[in-house]
Amino acid sequence: MYLARLTFGADANGSLDRGTVQDAAEWYLASLLKNGQIYGEWVEGWSGGQFVAYLNVARPTSLERRFHSEWSAQALDKVVEAFGVPPQLELLEDEVPTRYRRWEQSKSFYLFTHAFDETSPVNCGDRGVPIPLYLLPVDQSLREDLYRWASAYVHLDNIWLNSGALEMPAYRQIADPTAELSVDGRELCGKIESAVGRPVYYYVMRYWGRQTGEATRVCPLCGKDWHTTDAPVKDAPFHQFDFRCEPCRLVSHIASSDDNQRHARIGEFNPKPRRRKPR
Ligand SMILES: [Zn+2]
Repeated sequence: MYLARLTFGADANGSLDRGTVQDAAEWYLASLLKNGQIYGEWVEGWSGGQFVAYLNVARPTSLERRFHSEWSAQALDKVVEAFGVPPQLELLEDEVPTRYRRWEQSKSFYLFTHAFDETSPVNCGDRGVPIPLYLLPVDQSLREDLYRWASAYVHLDNIWLNSGALEMPAYRQIADPTAELSVDGRELCGKIESAVGRPVYYYVMRYWGRQTGEATRVCPLCGKDWHTTDAPVKDAPFHQFDFRCEPCRLVSHIASSDDNQRHARIGEFNPKPRRRKPR
């Protein structure tokens, strides 16, 4: 993602209703966020008589009209109506690549985010790079569902990392593929897969693991062997997974810690589960 400044327009002679035009700008920015055109939080304000926002664009061309969803295009029209001119984007980042991966180049994808990730939760399975949601051939409501799912994941990951009262319920949500957040994520994977015609895996986070047998643990959903034959070497890139179940469309890694065998049970195969199926 790349730092940019979006200048909405000037209130040169004080004739604009600043509250109204600011609402239009914020509505537009929110629509860009949910469509995956910008990432993370933005900073906004009146400066030198102009309303400006400092934000992160997914790619240098992300705000071109052709990438707008129906909703973000409508919000843009309201901005032009309010300010009298279209907003102007200026990239502020020093180094900007000229070539980017297209989603069509990916043989597979996986869904994953984490507490410190503001980019797209849909990642290329071959390179491990995020694919901006607005580029995927899915409708705008699915993009918004993906944005909301990723936001929920980030919140829960933060709660787990902060080790407070809800540490373990939050961990279960991200580490157990039958927990509600994971079931929702798997359902989203299925919808993306229907649209792109390629496998879309759900990444199952695993922090606590077994002192023995961790490398041969079975798929948490079907109970079958899912250890990958292309076993990653030490310090392998994230997207080279230790585990992959093709029928269940799950991927995962060997646990990071073996210091709590009770917690290691979370996310393991249970032959008599009470499972919620994807809707
Ligand atoms: Zn399986």
